[in-house]
Amino acid sequence: MTMRCPKRVPDSFRKLLRRAGCIVLFAAALLGVGAAIAAAQQAERPRNVIIMFGDGAAAAQWELGRSSSRLLRGEPFAVTDIVFRQGTVGLLTTHPLDALVTDSAAAGSAMSTGFKVNNGAISTSPDGRPLRTLMEAAKASGKRIGLVTTATVYDATPAAFSVQAKSRRDYQTIVDRYLALEPDVLLGGGADYFLPTGKRGGRRRDGKDMIAAFAAKEYELARDTRALKAARGPRLLGLFAVEDMDFEIDRAPDRQPSTAEMAEAALRVLSQNSPNGFVLLVENENLDSAGHRNDLAALIRDLWAFDRAVQVALEFQRRAPGETLVIVTGDHETGGLSATYALRDLKSASWENIFYAGREQLAMVGRITISLDAAAVKLGSTLSAEALDRLLAQHFPGFRLDPDLREAILRQQPLERNFAYVTQSALARMVSRQTGFYWGTSGHTAAPVLVGAIGPGAELFRGYQDNTDFGKILHRLIEPR
Ligand SMILES: [Zn+2]
Repeated sequence: MTMRCPKRVPDSFRKLLRRAGCIVLFAAALLGVGAAIAAAQQAERPRNVIIMFGDGAAAAQWELGRSSSRLLRGEPFAVTDIVFRQGTVGLLTTHPLDALVTDSAAAGSAMSTGFKVNNGAISTSPDGRPLRTLMEAAKASGKRIGLVTTATVYDATPAAFSVQAKSRRDYQTIVDRYLALEPDVLLGGGADYFLPTGKRGGRRRDGKDMIAAFAAKEYELARDTRALKAARGPRLLGLFAVEDMDFEIDRAPDRQPSTAEMAEAALRVLSQNSPNGFVLLVENENLDSAGHRNDLAALIRDLWAFDRAVQVALEFQRRAPGETLVIVTGDHETGGLSATYALRDLKSASWENIFYAGREQLAMVGRITISLDAAAVKLGSTLSAEALDRLLAQHFPGFRLDPDLREAILRQQPLERNFAYVTQSALARMVSRQTGFYWGTSGHTAAPVLVGAIGPGAELFRGYQDNTDFGKILHRLIEPR
């Protein structure tokens, strides 16, 4: 860009003005482009970062957590009532490189590395370039690192925050890369890709026993809640299910720990011997899985379970508020969920025949005692009308299944082109019709996600940003100046 100077001004002075102008313009451009980065460099830097990650959770899910918590159990919801209300709040766009709607791999990669990738890729660019993950950066800065999830530990989100793989389905590779990275804490499900095919639940084809390989690197192993509570580290591998851990509504507390119990154990282990602090990712994947099944009752219980883990993080943060940054966010919205209204029946569309979702409807959902996945398993493959009636009477008190939905289940006929999980989505529609909580899809949507932050650096997450900005800000906060 060139500057025009008045003709009367002598040549030498014009040059000087032009040069000064260029410097001003260049500085302005730098300020514009790098404002967020510069702000991150000047911001207070946290010693510890705790990322509380609700997979599949956006504003609709958090609002359901808040309203159900208030109306069904008379308790505040820490995500909205503490983190969003007292901290800094921002919105993140979520699209990947190759679509408008993201999967967890592309969103996690963007939030971890600061770069967009295609759906399905784990922190790897479309031309195969490995992108530096947040946990790699944290480790290089001398911080301890931890990954906690209710999914398999090699699932897309924890994988994208820490290692690289061409595909999120390269499970064996992801586990191998964990062993090389050596996260100090690794908790969740997914024992299958730690064990060879010959061992119970094992699915590895290379004959390796990765549990033994982690043990050789002085990891303490926990396989149930009691072992997790007793674990003191300094390194901890916890595998509590062969595949995903259970929904909170179905969870057996002795066999599988809650999200809060895993967060507690992770903080206990990571906060010892950590002169440079730590970075911890705690993910509740069940929020996403419940969204995929349109399972309102399971979603509410896992929102509460996640919120209890957020309280654990906040309690840790309050002990030294200047040291720890707590972030609550998600990667995308799942299910196109909204509380809305419904007609009591199809006899009339008049206003007298309409009800809005409210306390009474939430209370009905609160009486459901099983996840829709567990209901589908219980129904089994025989699909008899009697078994269906028994299931409804036992686990869905007060609900009646309309003939079209009954037919859909018994014939295994999908309700729509964007509804997978036939039994689950038909039972979900039964719940929608009687409660007014409707779902638009059994997939992800393009809604932006919320990010709330408390602690040093929290201000940087304010406003409407891209999910890559989230990653860029965290790298700047973590990497040495
Ligand atoms: Zn999902």
